[in-house]
Amino acid sequence: GELPTAASEIVQVLIEKSLDGKESATYQMFQKLMDWCSKVTRLEVRTNADNPEQTANAIAFGATGIGLCRTEHMFFDAGRISAVRQMILAEDTQGRRAALAKLLPEQRADFHAIFEIMAGLPVTIRLLDPPLHEFLPQGDEEFEELSEAIGIGVATLRRRADELHEFNPMLGHRGCRLGITFPEIYEMQARAIFEAACDVMAAGAEVPVVPEVMVPLVATGRELEILKALIDRTAAAVFAEKGRRLDYHVGTMIELPRAALMAGEIARHAEFFSFGTNDLTQTALGVSRDDAAKFLGPYVEQGIYPRDPFVSLDLEGVGELVQIAAHRGRETRPGMKLGICGEHGGDPASIAFCEGIGLDYVSASPYRVPIARLAAAQAALD
Ligand code: PEP
Ligand code: MG
Repeated sequence: GELPTAASEIVQVLIEKSLDGKESATYQMFQKLMDWCSKVTRLEVRTNADNPEQTANAIAFGATGIGLCRTEHMFFDAGRISAVRQMILAEDTQGRRAALAKLLPEQRADFHAIFEIMAGLPVTIRLLDPPLHEFLPQGDEEFEELSEAIGIGVATLRRRADELHEFNPMLGHRGCRLGITFPEIYEMQARAIFEAACDVMAAGAEVPVVPEVMVPLVATGRELEILKALIDRTAAAVFAEKGRRLDYHVGTMIELPRAALMAGEIARHAEFFSFGTNDLTQTALGVSRDDAAKFLGPYVEQGIYPRDPFVSLDLEGVGELVQIAAHRGRETRPGMKLGICGEHGGDPASIAFCEGIGLDYVSASPYRVPIARLAAAQAALD
């Protein structure tokens, strides 16, 4: 029982000590251990990465793909946030499209760099997910800066920001709801993905780029049906313009209890599922992930949860939802690809559970990749 934690700690030390020199004795030991892991592992270990540096690190640690590229992290970049805010605060589609036109080349460049580094390894790109209020200006100075950047008065911007205020943003206008109500946002992102993939191929990539486009926070099959049609239409338009065709996959995150229960229906429109166990934990337990720190300590001390459920999967409750969804999804679509991309993808006990229910991959943050590889190997041997 203690071994996985102890071994994980050893791996952590090995990673830290070997970062300085790839030729060091410590690094050789680390590599050897990782090679042993690869020989017995069934689960693929991917990484959660959204910029070229993180991606390169994760590959150096042995990740075999990107399981979650959170595109919103690209939106927070200092040079782009004004255009993002302009898009959000726009009063109509035309205003949103004007702002999106500024973001398209930026997103395309991000994806281009990631596809190049990954050189044909799988990359799952998630379309925009967070509640819009996370991007809104805070305080007078930011409102003034934005007003200057986009030429709209501060009073108008403030009124629009007030209109967008939500009481429960995590359950509000976010995830695929953004794509349903503002299709031009997902259309821009899909275009950036397909254009970048075509450009990397045109530049002579040896291994085909096969983008995996992932839709967040789906609760119903119909949401995905509508958004898959939008993504397919955008792919067809880009391929016609570029004069080439690429394979790609459209799938969804399973991160709401309803989605887990309706996985059989959702799988009609999804080529893959990735379990977003951060949100699934939040929504299944009814515990806000941003506020949980206030009370989870006493909960764990009193044995209500054995461990922080945002760190180690609540196997009995959330785990059962994952298992139901995996089963129902594969009933509709035998052999469909299943992975996990919540923080639990880097936690040894959760990884052992994923092995047990037959998921195909776990996706962990770059510095947890070695621990995930070790845990995946141990789970396979068990
Ligand atoms: C999740 O909900 O598990 C997930 C990976 O998405 P995010 O953490 O970005 O909401
Ligand atoms: Mg999520």
